[in-house]
Parts: sequence; C-alpha cells; structure tokens
Amino acid sequence: MTELAQELEEFRAPIARWVDERLAPQAEALDVAGEFPHALFREFAELGYLGVMYPEEAGGSGVPHPYSCFTVLCEELARGSLGFAAGVCMQGSTATHTLYEWGNDELRKRWFAPALRGEKIAAFAITEPNAGSDAAALRTRATRVDGGWQLDGSKIFTTNGTVADVITVVATTDPAQGARALEMFVVDTSTPGFSVGRRLDKFSVHSSDTGELHFNQVFVPQDHHLASEQGGGFRNAYQALTVDRIFTAALALGNARAAFEAARRYAAEREQFGQPIGKFQAVQFKLVDMYTKLEQARLITYDAAARADRGESITVQAALAKIVAADECHAVCQMAMDIFGGYALMNEYPVQRFLRDSYFPRIGGGTGDIMRLLVARQLGL
Ligand SMILES: Cc1cc2nc3c(=O)[nH]c(=O)nc-3n(C[C@H](O)[C@H](O)[C@H](O)COP(=O)(O)OP(=O)(O)OC[C@H]3O[C@@H](n4cnc5c(N)ncnc54)[C@H](O)[C@@H]3O)c2cc1C
Repeated sequence: MTELAQELEEFRAPIARWVDERLAPQAEALDVAGEFPHALFREFAELGYLGVMYPEEAGGSGVPHPYSCFTVLCEELARGSLGFAAGVCMQGSTATHTLYEWGNDELRKRWFAPALRGEKIAAFAITEPNAGSDAAALRTRATRVDGGWQLDGSKIFTTNGTVADVITVVATTDPAQGARALEMFVVDTSTPGFSVGRRLDKFSVHSSDTGELHFNQVFVPQDHHLASEQGGGFRNAYQALTVDRIFTAALALGNARAAFEAARRYAAEREQFGQPIGKFQAVQFKLVDMYTKLEQARLITYDAAARADRGESITVQAALAKIVAADECHAVCQMAMDIFGGYALMNEYPVQRFLRDSYFPRIGGGTGDIMRLLVARQLGL
C-alpha cells in the first residue's frame, strides 16, 4: 500500500464507523422525513470533519491531502445517505470554499469559522429558474448603493438553502455583459428582504434541503462582496464548482457502493430453484459488472483528487470523474434493482432509494452533457 493509500484508509476508518453506527441505521427514516437533519448534522460537525479542506491556521483540519481526504469523507457519508452527504459536502466545500478563498478576515471570522464548527449553515446559489446550465445568463441583479450593494432576484435548487444562515450568491452588475459582470456576495439570511419561497419537494436525495430563494432589495455591506478582479466573480465561482465535481463523483461512488453491497448480500440470501440466486452465473456476472464499474469510478475520482492535492489543473479530470462516476454508479444502482426482483420496488428495501439518489450526481454541479461540452472545449473541439 502506498503512503497516501495508508493515510486515506486511516482517515476513512472512523468516518466509516460513524456511518455504520449512526448514519446508515437512520437513512431510511431521514429519507421518509424529508427534512434537513439538524441533530445529526450537528453531531457530525462536532466530530470536526467540516474543516477537512482547510489549513489548521484557518480553523480547518490541516490534513496533508485535503482533496483526497474530503473525497473519502463524501464517499463514506454517501454510503450511508447521499442526501445527508450532499448537505455536508456543500457545507465543507463550495459554500465555505468561496468564503475562505475570497473572503476578508472579518468574513472568515463571522461566517467561515462558525460554518466549519457547524454552528452556521452555509449555502451557495448560482442557479436560477431561467439560468441553469447557462449560468452566465443569470438575472439576480447587484446594484451599488450607499455602503454596499442591493440584491434583487430569485435562486432555485439551492442546497441547504432554506436552513442556511449564510449564502454565497452569484449576481450580475450588468446583465448585458454576461459572465464578465458576475460577482459573488455573502448574504446573511436574517437581512430584511431575503425570503425562502419554498422548500422543494424532490424525487431524490430527500434528506438534502433544496430551496427556492427570493431577494427583494437585500442590502449587502461592502465587506460582504467577495474579492475579485474586474469580472472575476464568474471565474471564481467556476473554480469552486470545478473542485466540487470531484466530490459529487465521490457521492455517486459511495451511494453505488451501498447498492452493490446490498445486492451482493441479497444474492447470497435469496433462494430460487433450490439455491441462492448468487449461484446463477447471470447474477454473478451482473455483480462483477457492477464491481467493475465501481472500480472505474473509484480510480478516476481518486486520481482527480490526487491531482488536485498535487496542485495540478483539474478542469478536465474533475469533469471526466463526474461523467464516469455519475453514469457508471447510476448503472450500478439500476443493476442492483434487477437483482432484488420485485422487492426492488418495495419501499422497505433501500435499493429504490439508491437508484433515486443516483440521479443527483448526474445533475448537481453541471449535467453530464455540460461536462462533455466542457471537455470538448478543452480538447479544442
Ligand atoms: C438536488 C439539486 C441540488 C442542487 N444544488 C444546487 C446548489 O446548491 N446551488 C446551485 O446554484 N445550484 C444547484 N443545483 C442546480 C444544478 O446545478 C442545475 O440543476 C444544473 O446545473 C442543470 O441546470 P437546469 O436544471 O436548469 O437544467 P438545464 O440547464 O435546463 O438543462 C436541461 C437539459 O438540457 C441540457 N443542456 C442544456 N444546455 C446544453 C448545451 N449547451 N449542450 C447540451 N445539452 C445542454 C442539459 O444537459 C440537460 O439535459 C442543484 C440541482 C439539484 C437537482
């Protein structure tokens, strides 16, 4: 085993234990409740893992390979509940990444450090009802006012959005200028004019909070405008989202591992024609194909994370990891459904949850086709 692999297994073990003892046994109940799991989120935050991506001097864990370790964390949590993992992933990555990377000392003290302790819930909002894949077409308007900015507009699909204390909001200072006019602002959700439209009711990742948000003359003080060079807001948001793709791939992997393990156990227990169905070669081959897909997803995801830890560019590798992990892991969940036969359709078996949740990594952080578009551009096509 390499030194890095050894380090990651040591990092993984206590998280895997917490997932087995605390998260997995509650996953079905969390899915049915369909609410943000405040108590469990706090319990997990107290273990100190929300700061894995950040150095010790900033209040983080200071692990030597933060991207690889956070990949482990996302994978393990998703093995218990992808919905729960998605909220944690947002908190420990994109939402805090923007505060850490482009926030001033005051912002870091007021929002970033408490978010790492789980005392404040953080979110990141770029998507709007009419601007999804084409994020640069967003219309939430930032207007200069005395002492800062005023935000007006709406966001949709914001993870942690209805429970957030603080949201990094991407807005435009001039819609006619597209991506060049985008800037990021940190919004305290207790500010007058901010409101939650609704908590969205979903087919997938029930225990992840997904909100529709409104901004009506919301005042943002100047020191809550995240630093950027002229027009650099889009580039910065894009950088945060690029990193997040590795973790979304890890979410897919963890969820599919749970589906594979459930199918493997079921194949050993369920008997038909006088023997366990796992004795039939057709079922064995299916399980081997599932295992192959998991290995492909695991290798490409951890390779992207290791490249990020080495400081290499990950634009292409993160997109490829998300394509492979999201697609292959979705296929693993579909194959698990087949192995469970009619029981797959029964809500008392978790396999239908694994399949439902496997749609999220295909969309969150950019759809598979947008990832392909991005790689095509990098290939000069
Ligand atoms: C559960 C959930 C959580 C989310 N969390 C967040 C969050 O925390 N913050 C946030 O800002 N956003 C979040 N999102 C939004 C997510 O990033 C968007 O849903 C995603 O980028 C796709 O946008 P859209 O849904 O508007 O689809 P559209 O952009 O309308 O795409 C519809 C279809 O058209 C295809 N398509 C669009 N353009 C092209 C093109 N140029 N070439 C080829 N195909 C194309 C897409 O691939 C897709 O198949 C979340 C979404 C979900 C479902």
